[in-house]
Amino acid sequence: MSGPVTTADVPATPGEGGGTGAPTVELEPGRLTQVGSLPVRRVLPHRPRKTVGAWCFADHMGPVTPEAPGTLGIGPHPHMGLQTVTWLIEGELLHLDSLGSEQLIRPGQLNLMTAGHGVAHAEEDPGRARTMHGIQLWLAQTEATRNGEAAFEHHAELPVVELEGGEGTVLVGDYGGRESPARRDTEHVGAELRLRPPGSALSLRPDYEHALIVLEGSVRVGDRVVEPGVLASLGAGRDEFRLELREPARALLIGGVPFPEKLLMWWNFVARTTEEASEARRQWAERDERFGSVPSRLERIEVGKPPWE
Ligand code: MN
Repeated sequence: MSGPVTTADVPATPGEGGGTGAPTVELEPGRLTQVGSLPVRRVLPHRPRKTVGAWCFADHMGPVTPEAPGTLGIGPHPHMGLQTVTWLIEGELLHLDSLGSEQLIRPGQLNLMTAGHGVAHAEEDPGRARTMHGIQLWLAQTEATRNGEAAFEHHAELPVVELEGGEGTVLVGDYGGRESPARRDTEHVGAELRLRPPGSALSLRPDYEHALIVLEGSVRVGDRVVEPGVLASLGAGRDEFRLELREPARALLIGGVPFPEKLLMWWNFVARTTEEASEARRQWAERDERFGSVPSRLERIEVGKPPWE
């Protein structure tokens, strides 16, 4: 979804990339906000943890049933320096972007858009599904690719792996011995886990820091219950993590090598300096060709000047 993140939502000063590296579990409550017409639970970014590997943003959208069909969605808006990862549990969305992509996404499929130097996109609700439920995340791009060309990928089929106490779908990276075909610019993983009681021992890479975002149901970590709307940070240095379940649950496991660069996140941009973010905003406002145009029926999204200008 991305969309109009206000200055109050995201730190406007550069933060440290990466995590603590300590094998801890921290439950970090997200907050409710609105992206276009969609209610979302924003679990990343979260002070003080700004990234989990390259994962720097996560909006759990819905589940929501609109009063009128076709009224969800988000109008054209720009991105730079990041990849958007869109994953649905219910409903469908039509992705439109300035590269000319037009792609319907349904549950179990992956949309991966690489912004690089600049791209714009919209996500429309075709109006056929009653309920919308999904998650959109961002992956920060490193210096190696963040000024490169934009790209878009749709994956209708992804590897499904058998796990103790359930199964998983590998969105990006390797998990459970299977590798996603999706582009990956850094060492990271994203997998949807569908688990049932009494639980599961997740196998993890000790060189990755990990976090769990529960999308449906709940899981137990020690004596604590993790429900939707919370980022459960598992830290780094683990090769296994045990979850107990008293009901079926669906959760997204994200992880990666701690991000090596300092980020400046503002609005829909992942930058390094305020100057870069200011220039990108100005170019979007002036309809500069950098971000192109999106053939969408929805209204273009604008933002005011950042607080440092
Ligand atoms: Mn977006």
